[in-house]
Amino acid sequence: MEAKWPGDVNKKQVLSVIDDKGERMVRMANLCVVGSYAVNGVAALHSQLVKRDLFPEFDALYPGRIQNVTNGITPRRWLKFCNPDLSNLISEKIGEQWPAQLEQLEQIAQYADDADFQKTFMAVKKCNKQRLADWVKSNLDITLNTDAIFDVQIKRLHEYKRQHLNLLHVISLYQRLLNEPNFDTAPRVVFFAAKAAPGYELAKSIIFAINKVAETINNDPRVGDKLKVVFIPDYRVSMAEIIIPAADVSEQISMAGKEASGTGNMKMALNGALTIGTMDGANVEIREEVGDDNIYIFGLDVDGVTERRENGYQPESEYHNQPLLKAALDSLLDDTFTPGQPGLLRPVFDSVMTSGDPYLCLADFADYVRAHNDIDRDYRDMSQWARKAILNTALVGKFSSDRSIRDYVNNIWQLDAVKR
Ligand SMILES: *Cc1c(COP(=O)(O)O)cnc(C)c1O
Repeated sequence: MEAKWPGDVNKKQVLSVIDDKGERMVRMANLCVVGSYAVNGVAALHSQLVKRDLFPEFDALYPGRIQNVTNGITPRRWLKFCNPDLSNLISEKIGEQWPAQLEQLEQIAQYADDADFQKTFMAVKKCNKQRLADWVKSNLDITLNTDAIFDVQIKRLHEYKRQHLNLLHVISLYQRLLNEPNFDTAPRVVFFAAKAAPGYELAKSIIFAINKVAETINNDPRVGDKLKVVFIPDYRVSMAEIIIPAADVSEQISMAGKEASGTGNMKMALNGALTIGTMDGANVEIREEVGDDNIYIFGLDVDGVTERRENGYQPESEYHNQPLLKAALDSLLDDTFTPGQPGLLRPVFDSVMTSGDPYLCLADFADYVRAHNDIDRDYRDMSQWARKAILNTALVGKFSSDRSIRDYVNNIWQLDAVKR
C-alpha cells in the first residue's frame, strides 16, 4: 500500500484488517480479500457492486482479484426430476444430452412459434398446475382454477425481497374487483411460500398479514375464482419441486442492489415461467438471455434507488399521490382483513410509512402495477404467452450449475478438470 499510495494514511486505515476506530476489531471481509487468491460476486451486477461500492480500494490495489461467477442451478433436480413431463417433451425434440449440456436447450427455441408444440408445452404446464392445485386442496382445502395465472413468490421472507409489495398489489386487485364494475382481469392465483428467521419479528408480521388477506379474499363470494391467495407453509426444497413446474409468473421483485443473485429466478424461468422483476441480481442476466419481450422488468434500478434516497425519499408523498396505493395501505389499519380486530396488521403499514420504507416499496408500486397489467394483457393471448414461456425454457441454459462450477474451476480455484 505504501508503494501504491505513498503517505496515504487514510487508505491504510480503510484497508486495514484491524478496525481501531473504537474497540479494536478484526474486519473479517478485509481479511478475506487480503488472504485470498480471488474474491467473487455471484452475478454480474453483484460483482460490479462489490468492486464499485464495497471494495473500490482493494480493487485498485489488487486489479483482477475481484471477479464474477454467476450462480447456477442443477438441471437434474430443477428440471429433469421435478418436471418429468416437460423433460420428456424436450428429450423428444432434442435428445437426452441436455441435462448435462444445458445450452442445448437453445434448440427448443425453433419450436416457439410451432402451434402444436405450444399446445403440448401448455398442456404440460396445466398438468403441473393441477398437481399443485391437488396438493393445495388436500393440504389447505382451497379450490383452485388451473386456467388462472399462477403467480408465484417463494423465497425466504425478508423486507428487501419485498413480499409486502406483492401483498399491496394483491390487496389493490381485490379492491378493484370489488369497486370497479368494468375492471376486467384474467383469473389469478397468487402463491406465497416463505420462512422467517426465528428472531425476525416484522417478517413474521408480514407472513401473518399474507395469511389474513388470503383468508378474507378466498372466502369473499363476490370475488369468485377471479382471485385466490395461497400461503404455503414450511417452504422447503421438496415443496419448491412441486410449485416451480406449475408457475406461470415468477416474482423477483427485490429492491435493486439487494439480491446478490437469486436462484429461484433461474429455477422458474427454466420451467417456463415468465419473470416479473427488478434490475437486480441475476434478473439482469436472465433478461439478457431471454430478451426484453420475454420478461417483465419494472421499478428503480441501482442508480435510481441511490438517486431517490439522495433526494430525500418520502413514502408519505407516494401514499397521498396514489389513490390505489393509499386504499391498499389504509385497509391494513381497519378490520377489512381481521374482522372485529382492527390494527392487527399495523406493523406492515408502519414498516413502509412510519419507518420510512427502507426498501422503496411505495416508490416502485405504480410501475409494479403497470408490469402486472402487461402480464394480464399478454396471458390472455395463449399462443403469445406460450411462445414467451417456451423461449424462457430454451434460453436460460447459461444458468446451469455445471457452468458455474466450470467458472470456479477455471478462474477461481485454478484446477485441472478431471479427464473422462
Ligand atoms: C431456490 C430456493 C431458495 C432461494 O430462492 P431465491 O428466490 O433465490 O431467494 C430458497 N429456498 C428454497 C427451498 C429453494 O429451493
